[in-house]
Amino acid sequence: MDKPIYKRVVLKLSGEALSGDKKFGLDENTIIKIAKQVKNLQQSGVEVAIIVGGGNFWRGRSSKEMDRSTADYMGMLATVINSLAMQDALENIGVLTRVQTAIEMRQIAEPYIKRKAVRHLEKGRVVIFAAGTGNPYFTTDTTAALRAAEIESEVILLAKKGVDGVYDSDPQENPDAKKFDKLKYKEILNLELKVMDSTAASLCKDNNIPIIVFSIEEPENITKVVFGAEIGTKLKED
Ligand code: UDP
Repeated sequence: MDKPIYKRVVLKLSGEALSGDKKFGLDENTIIKIAKQVKNLQQSGVEVAIIVGGGNFWRGRSSKEMDRSTADYMGMLATVINSLAMQDALENIGVLTRVQTAIEMRQIAEPYIKRKAVRHLEKGRVVIFAAGTGNPYFTTDTTAALRAAEIESEVILLAKKGVDGVYDSDPQENPDAKKFDKLKYKEILNLELKVMDSTAASLCKDNNIPIIVFSIEEPENITKVVFGAEIGTKLKED
């Protein structure tokens, strides 16, 4: 475990991963801990793209009354707040970053341009993709799948709060829930496991992108996974 096993990774952080022990918003200490792990990877020569969710502020589907698209755009804006927080923490410890957003806001971030994103990665900059796909009715897990395919990432690191892998039932409700070490995408789709939405799972299946699901409660897991430790659950096609 002395060398990273991946050259280019997409790290998907749920919004809640940035809220630490709080139920809402941002916890700066937590963000700093995650940033240090990203710095480890960058210093080991791994190219890192980050996608942050927005669930620590708002999820479109939590609204019953609001127009769905409006609620979803609000969710995408929440991901921009998180992306800027992540950028700030990384730059404070000397990691060069670029935020690229799928919804244009020129004062604070570059627009998403795939070729530019790849160039930044090649130069050792961490690229943070904000505002999801830019479209309502999607999630940031789907964004991770889409961007991973576009930038030819070898893997998606799906860092979750409150769960350390994929289980056959909710481990918080069922003490006998069984954790999977490995799983095929079609099993996720067939068993309707709630690890990610079906659009994201299909996209990864069709493009053969492996995903590793693990707990962000121990931020060191990020480095461990990239250096080959078998933690969490690995999702693959074969
Ligand atoms: N969202 C969207 N399109 C996208 C990505 C995100 O509409 O391409 C909205 C959607 O409302 C979603 C919210 O942004 O609920 C926050 O993203 P997500 O729920 O994926 O965040 P996470 O659960 O990872 O914190």
